[in-house]
Amino acid sequence: MTKLYVVLPCYNEEEVLPETTKRLSTKMNELIARQIIREDSKIVYVDDGSKDKTWSLIERQNQENPLVQGVKLTRNKGHQNALLAGLMTVRDCCDATISMDADLQDDVQVIETMVAEYEKGNEIVYGVRSSRDTDTVFKKSTALGFYKLMKFLGADTVFNHADCRLMSGLALNRLAEFKEVNLFLRGIVPMIGYKSSIAYYDRSERFAGESKYPLKKMIAFAWQGVTSLSAKPIKMITITGILLSLLGFIALIVFLILYSSSAVGMLWPILCAISLACGLQLTAIGVIGEYVGKSYIEIKGRPRFFVETYLE
Ligand code: UDP
Ligand code: MG
Repeated sequence: MTKLYVVLPCYNEEEVLPETTKRLSTKMNELIARQIIREDSKIVYVDDGSKDKTWSLIERQNQENPLVQGVKLTRNKGHQNALLAGLMTVRDCCDATISMDADLQDDVQVIETMVAEYEKGNEIVYGVRSSRDTDTVFKKSTALGFYKLMKFLGADTVFNHADCRLMSGLALNRLAEFKEVNLFLRGIVPMIGYKSSIAYYDRSERFAGESKYPLKKMIAFAWQGVTSLSAKPIKMITITGILLSLLGFIALIVFLILYSSSAVGMLWPILCAISLACGLQLTAIGVIGEYVGKSYIEIKGRPRFFVETYLE
């Protein structure tokens, strides 16, 4: 039986919290009764510096409901940090954690699927939304393209997986070895490795309240993903620079050939010179950038490998 802690970051979620606790408690009590999870399993809310009554609600629920625990951050630090704070606080108390959003967008039924996968020996179970029916047309149509673009830019993630996932205590201890400040958990977790699997679930609309991730914040988050995971955009500068210089060089040769045979306009050599000069500068910036990028990755001090087994 699994001692399971469900971790939910909350920022100004007073409108949904009572319903979230109700649904989660029902599901968890059912799993406890069916002896799938242990009875000392918990629901852990992480209050990310909310300005409304979220924390007092958590305090009250903690008194009334033996399943509910609360972690309070000193101020708002954003979803990723709040989630990590919750996971790191409880990682030694349980066998596995499941992280979910507090707004009930992630179907609580996924808990059962994830625990079943965990029991099969998976250290990480990625929650992947099976349909995007409830998303707006804009979100749906851009999702795949966006994912591919992110991958191209160096942020390799599991498609349609956000931050709903199960992680075993072992995987959490590995996660703790990533010391980076610019967090993009869905990019870091796959770096851990181990046997992992996917649990599909339906993602519905937010139960109540407003999204704390408007488009502007989402784009910022995606850029955070790209820049925190890889230095690939720098490489693209170098490549652009090289291509531009090459273009200028070829054009110059063509100009020289044509110049001796017939009259060509004087605009051509100017364009060649501009293309060459810009290209060389871009290449130089790119090369410097490569070193900056390497230093950036070095500074993160990410673990180079994890040994899973040592047979003696
Ligand atoms: N959240 C948080 N800190 C923040 C913003 C959001 O802990 O600064 C929590 C929020 O309470 C919710 C989860 O992160 O549980 C996802 O946020 P939201 O539902 O607003 O994002 P969306 O689903 O619209 O992308
Ligand atoms: Mg949401």
